[in-house]
Order: sequence, then structure tokens, then C-alpha cells
Amino acid sequence: MIEIGVKIGKENGKGGTMEAHRKKGILYIVVPCYNEEEALLPSAKTLLDKLGALRSNGIVSEKSRIVFVDDGSKDRTWEIITQLYNANEEVAGLRFAHNRGHQNAILAGMMYAKDFCDYTITIDADLQQDIEAIERFIEEYVKGSEVVFGVRNSRNTDHFFKKFSATMFYKVMRSMGANIYENSADYRLMSAKALEALSEYDEVNLFLRGIIPDIGLASSVVHFDVFPRMQGESKYSLSKMLTLAADGITSFSIKPIRMVFGMGILALLVGFGMVIHIVYEHYFGYTIDGWSSILMSIWVLGGAILISLGIIGEYVGRNYMETKRRPRYYFWDVLSHDRTE
Ligand code: UDP
Ligand code: MG
Repeated sequence: MIEIGVKIGKENGKGGTMEAHRKKGILYIVVPCYNEEEALLPSAKTLLDKLGALRSNGIVSEKSRIVFVDDGSKDRTWEIITQLYNANEEVAGLRFAHNRGHQNAILAGMMYAKDFCDYTITIDADLQQDIEAIERFIEEYVKGSEVVFGVRNSRNTDHFFKKFSATMFYKVMRSMGANIYENSADYRLMSAKALEALSEYDEVNLFLRGIIPDIGLASSVVHFDVFPRMQGESKYSLSKMLTLAADGITSFSIKPIRMVFGMGILALLVGFGMVIHIVYEHYFGYTIDGWSSILMSIWVLGGAILISLGIIGEYVGRNYMETKRRPRYYFWDVLSHDRTE
């Protein structure tokens, strides 16, 4: 970590050399694939052409690669990746034994790439995301961004339910305190440094769209268009979407637990109001026998129980956050004359 800091510090010190240093970097494009036998070949051709153009125009290094991650597909996806690997020196393939989900596939690809590349760009295998945005991602990286977020222009290509659920999801995530861009996608550039920081997040349920903004390194945004899927069907079933949403919310915040506590306080306040009301009613004899004592105990006890649950929940929630062992901090730069060796 310190070595990286010292290196960047020197670059900055020379003034203007950072951009030069970042030009023609090694790009690894990471493509998660789940049952993509229909889309994979045309997409791979488009991506290989794109990478070829970027290489010959001197925008990226000759050592740049495309990494296909097979997320435990049950169709011919791995066979196709193997063919692509045999025919192209710039193709790499990783294969999961089980379907571990889109987020894990992206993460695996990035963690593989981190030791070889200067930066990665993740993109879906159906190439619904406009690959012409790649140059703009790279420009932002060259200018100094460690993370470049892709934000989609519109959701016109999505059907009503997906549009509605996605909008609600981002609203809920933001209200839960996650630092997430609306309509952000997993089409994103990450520098080796950002990948290094990401690798320190050990949690199992990793919600990348929430975690990556949390890292806090220099970042920027590129807007892109989304096209309809050309080949095959969406691999994001409703249950996968709901799991992603649940992971996003629960991995990020213990606010739902705090709501229990808030509800307890509210119930208790209502309970005290009820006590006054009930005593008044009782005093003037508008009530039947037993009503007052039952209602009072329901509200006051209910409030007390919810508050107790909230308190227990707070400890459980903190315990939950602790078990993630997230890094407390990550150095952006280090200026130091000390050497670690
Ligand atoms: N994907 C994956 N594992 C899964 C589901 C999807 O790796 O369990 C990949 C899929 O192959 C594609 C990307 O994630 O490259 C996005 O999926 P898809 O295009 O089906 O989602 P949508 O665009 O419909 O949201
Ligand atoms: Mg898609």
C-alpha cells in the first residue's frame, strides 16, 4: 500500500506526468456470462474488434485482455469461451463450479485482473450497454479517476415492471443511507488501485454498486445508452432481482432494525396518550369493565416490547456489521520518506 502511495506521490510531484503515465494502460474487460451461448459469440467478436481498435490506436496497451467469467452455466457457454481462448491470445476464461450470481462473477473477474492490469471495465455479455462509451471511461481514467461509474441515460428499453422496481430500489437504497448513484450499472471502470481497495472488503454478500462508491477514491461518471437484448433471454429472473435488492439493503444498513426501535418509541408515546384518554373515559364511566386495563397494557407493553427488540436488534446489527470486517480506511496517497523494505 505504501509503495503505491510513494509512486503516485512522485508522479504528482513532477506535475502533469500522471496523465502521461496513465495513457496506454493495460485494460482488462471483464464479462460475466451465465447461459449466454446465444449472445456470447457475437458479443465476443464485437468486443475483440473494439479491443483491437483501442490497441491499434494506441489508447490501451498491447497487453490488454478480455476476461470471460462463466458463472456456472448449464449450456455451451464454457465451450465457447474455450474456443475463444484457443483462437485469441487476448482472451482469458474463468469458470465457476456453481452459479454464484452476477456480482460474484464480476468480482472474480476483477480480482483475477487486478494483478495484471492497470484498470478493468466490466460489461454484460449481452452488450446491452453501449460499448462506444468505453473510450469515455478511459479518458476519465487518464485524467485521474480511480473509479468511473457508468450511469444509464434512460430506461426506455426496459418494460414497465423493471423500470418501476429499479426506480424504487434506488430510492430505498438511498433512504437507507447507501451512497449509490441512481441508475448506476455494473458497467464501470476500476483502476488497479481501486481494485486493491475493493479486495479488502471481505464480506460474502458483496453489493458492488453500494460498496464501490464507499471506497471514496477519485471518481467520475460517464452516461451511456442501453439497447434491448439482441440474443437470448434476460438471465436476471425476478427471484435473482429480489435477492440482489435484499442483499443491497441488508448488506448496507441496519436501518430496518432502527425502525423497530423508532416504532417502539412511537407506540409508547401513543400508549401514554391512551393512558390519559382511558383514565378520562374511565373517570366519566363511558367504558365497559376491563377495557381500560386491557388497552393500556396493550399499548404500553407493546411499546416496551418493541423498544426492547430494537435495543437487542441494535447489538445484533452492530455484530453483523463487525463480522463483515470492512477496512476502516484506505489510503488514497501516502507521502513518506520512510521505506518499508
Ligand atoms: N449473469 C451472471 N450470473 C447470473 C445472472 C446473470 O453472470 O446469475 C450475467 C449475464 O450473463 C449478463 C449479465 O450478468 O452478462 C447481466 O444479465 P442480464 O443481461 O440477463 O440482465 P438484465 O440486462 O436483463 O438486467
Ligand atoms: Mg442484459
